[in-house]
Amino acid sequence: MKTLTRQVPKDPVCGMRVSAAEDAPTLVYEGSSFWFCSKDCREAFRKSPSRFTKGKSWIVRLLERIADVNEKEFGGKPPRCCGGHGNKRTS
Ligand SMILES: [Zn+2]
Repeated sequence: MKTLTRQVPKDPVCGMRVSAAEDAPTLVYEGSSFWFCSKDCREAFRKSPSRFTKGKSWIVRLLERIADVNEKEFGGKPPRCCGGHGNKRTS
């Protein structure tokens, strides 16, 4: 018997993989079932489902990746630009 790779549902709020057990919080939105790791995540989804379903377009993922790189490169701080150099102490 082959083990088929079953699709593990993902919590759209936090991105965690959720075991689609019967007691896991679920929500049906626009004909699709969503599983959540906790009721808090489900509530967050219920409040603004479009934020978690339609927001994950390629451009959002790209922006997230850029933000992630920024965080690694600059330690979460914004990169320095022209504001940081050449200023002499005047006080
Ligand atoms: Zn979650």
